[in-house]
Order: sequence, then C-alpha cells, then structure tokens
Amino acid sequence: MTTYGLIVIGSGPAGVAAAASYLEADGEGPVLLLTADEHPPYERPPLSKESLRGGEPELTPNASADGLDGVEIRLGTTVDAVDLDARAVRAGGEEIPFASLVLAPGAHPRVLDGVDADAEVRVLRTYADLERLAESAGHARTALVVGSGFIGCEAAVSLALRGLDVTVVSSEATPQADRLGERAGALVEDLLVGHGITLRGGVQISGIRAPRTVHLDDGTTLEPDLVLLAVGVEPSTSWLEGSGLQLHEGRVVVDEHLRAEDGVFAAGDAARTHNATAGRPIPVEHWFDAETMGSVAGAGAAGQDATWDSVPGFWSQIGEHWLKYAAWGDGHDELEAVERPGGLTVWYGREGTLVGVLTYNADDDYERGEQLVAQAAPFAAGPRGDQPEGEGEEDEEG
Ligand SMILES: Cc1cc2nc3c(=O)[nH]c(=O)nc-3n(C[C@H](O)[C@H](O)[C@H](O)COP(=O)(O)OP(=O)(O)OC[C@H]3O[C@@H](n4cnc5c(N)ncnc54)[C@H](O)[C@@H]3O)c2cc1C
Repeated sequence: MTTYGLIVIGSGPAGVAAAASYLEADGEGPVLLLTADEHPPYERPPLSKESLRGGEPELTPNASADGLDGVEIRLGTTVDAVDLDARAVRAGGEEIPFASLVLAPGAHPRVLDGVDADAEVRVLRTYADLERLAESAGHARTALVVGSGFIGCEAAVSLALRGLDVTVVSSEATPQADRLGERAGALVEDLLVGHGITLRGGVQISGIRAPRTVHLDDGTTLEPDLVLLAVGVEPSTSWLEGSGLQLHEGRVVVDEHLRAEDGVFAAGDAARTHNATAGRPIPVEHWFDAETMGSVAGAGAAGQDATWDSVPGFWSQIGEHWLKYAAWGDGHDELEAVERPGGLTVWYGREGTLVGVLTYNADDDYERGEQLVAQAAPFAAGPRGDQPEGEGEEDEEG
C-alpha cells in the first residue's frame, strides 16, 4: 500500500494552495488530494456574482491548481475518518496512509429549523449548487433570499440583474449592521434597494412548507418561485469528532504554523488559526485567507517554518459596487464612519486600537487601513489620516 508523503483533504483554495506550496517546498511525494467535490478545483467567489447573473452558469477554474502536476486528485471522494495513531485516512472503506496531512474541508451552508425536508430551497456553496439555483432561476419570476450577509446580498443583486423580482428577508433590521455598524449597513441597504430589491428586515423565518411557502414571524406568508437560503455556514468537520483533534466551535484548532499536531495541519474555513500578528485565534471565512493559510500549512508539512500573520479580509461585489474589508473581524467597541467623495470608509477600534477598516470607493483608506491594523495603530490614526509606520521614510531619506 502506498504511503503518501502528503494527503490533502479538500479542493477549495486552502487545499489547492497547500498542495502547491508543499510541491514548491520540495516536500516528499507522492501527494494525494481527496475531495468530495465532483468538479476540478474552481473559484467560489464568482458563484454569487458574475456566474449567477445570466446565461448558462460558468465554472471559473482555480488557476492555482495548474501547478499541481503530479498530484493525484480524486474527485467525488468523501473522507469519513482520520486515524491519527495509524496515520491513515479512511475514504469509502479504503485506508490510505500518510506521512503528513492537511485538513481543508471548508464549510457548508447552515440550514434553518422549521424547513420541510422536501421544501424546494436552494443554497449556494458549490458549483453544483449554482447549477441548481440557475436552473430554478430560469423558470422563476420572483425570488426570496433569506439572509443579508455578503453572499445573500451578492446573490440577491445577481438574481435581480437576471430580471427576477427579489425580496431579501433578514433578522437584522439593516443588513449587516450588527457586524459592520449602522452606516455600513445603510450603504449595503442602498445598494440592494438601488437594484430594485425589496428588503424585509427584522423578521425571522418561522417555517418553510413544501414546496415554497415561507412563513415569517410577523404573520406574513410569501409564495416565491425561488427560495435561496443564505444564513451562514458551518465547518465541515463532524467526521473529525472523536479523532483526537481539538475542535473549537467545529473548527480544528491550529497554531500560527497551521499545525494541529506533528505532521497534521488544518487551513481555511475549517481551521481556528492563531494569527501571529493579532496574537490570538482569528476564525475567518475568506478566499484569500484560506489560500494564505493553505500555503503556510503546505510549507509546514514540507518542513519549512511558515507563519500566518497577515490581516484577513475580503472584497465583496454587490452588482458593480465593491466593498473592501480588512479586519481581525472578532469585534469592535467603537467605530467612525467617514464620508468620501462618492464613497465611504468605516474605521473600527477595540480598546483604543485600530482593528479594522471597511471601504467603498476609497482604496487609499483600504490600503492604509490594512497596514495600520497590522501595526496595531491607535484607533484615531485611521480617521485622522495617519500614514503607516515606515511609509515614505525611504523617500525622506532620499
Ligand atoms: C458563493 C460564495 C461567494 C464567496 N465570495 C467570496 C468573496 O467574494 N471573497 C471572499 O474572500 N470569500 C468569498 N467566499 C468565501 C470563500 O469562498 C471561502 O472562504 C473559501 O472557499 C474557503 O476555502 P476552504 O478551502 O477553507 O474551503 P472550501 O472552499 O469550502 O473547500 C472545502 C473543500 O473540502 C471538500 N470536503 C469537505 N469535506 C470533505 C470530506 N469529508 N472529504 C473530502 N472532501 C471534503 C469540499 O468538497 C471542498 O472541495 C464565498 C463563498 C461562496 C460560497
């Protein structure tokens, strides 16, 4: 039986980057990537954006997977268990031994209580989900999106751009105001309303009866042609319970080297990773951070000393509008919104330290803010316009 130098579980950005960086660091082969997904590695962000806006859904290949020459990739293969003592994973009755392991199983959409098992509700995580959603959208005139997080908002606008009459229902009175503050929430609301979307905030779904009768807790009943549930995700790690790995809120606990234990790493949405710059665990669900973590994990598996120390963040595209966010993302106790010409910047602070920035048409603030957050600058440095330490010093010295 072959013992693989590295087994990677998951073909999302974390898994692909892990395999690529392992090869780049001359890790010992052979390398095996196991993934439950039926499709070769692809980009998830377009699924709620350009790929949903019309025409046939398109798969955007993950270009980083081009560098995986020589990696054995098994699609449509779900790993059921990992045996740390035997140093083997089990998939479909087969025990596959490894020297090193990177766990990158990501996350899957959360479901709501009170939804009939045979209700026609769509979710959006995989390319197969997009195909089902686009097929339903092709026959629909009205759509109800449940949830006003970024994926819900992006998908709602994409469905509106396809010509559907879209309503967004959310327990939040203003989209994302709890997480990003009232001013940012008002901006997101404007972007949705500007695309003709009806917002019903401050209501909960009390039940969805098959096929698509949606009951709200304010007594309203809606009968849309299409229902998309976008109420967040949960780590895909139930199969790791009892493995001996430490899980926190479903995420595999790893240090700043992405290491869970000797030769075992985890990265991406399924990892609870200690960020070296923040000095604490920073759970994130962002594409580029999953990639960065994957690279660190792959390098670590190959024996190199890499660390996750960057400020996490993401860009969200709502229609043609871009929101950019760089933040530790684990809470703030003050914020300041600064209006920009045709744009907005919101600065976030905690205990007097700058912990995040959100921008809309204010790229300078975004770039400055990202560096100030990494430097743990005082909160006031953001709104005041301070430059990050080290910026411009070379110029001054000539
Ligand atoms: C529609 C959509 C839009 C998004 N847009 C953005 C965006 O604009 N910007 C941004 O920063 N982030 C965005 N994200 C979030 C981003 O895609 C995720 O943070 C990222 O994909 C996480 O990467 P990952 O590798 O950890 O996990 P995933 O991408 O979830 O990949 C996990 C992989 O593991 C596999 N797997 C799971 N369990 C098993 C198992 N037991 N055995 C074998 N394989 C398994 C899965 O099949 C999958 O291949 C978006 C997400 C979605 C769904």
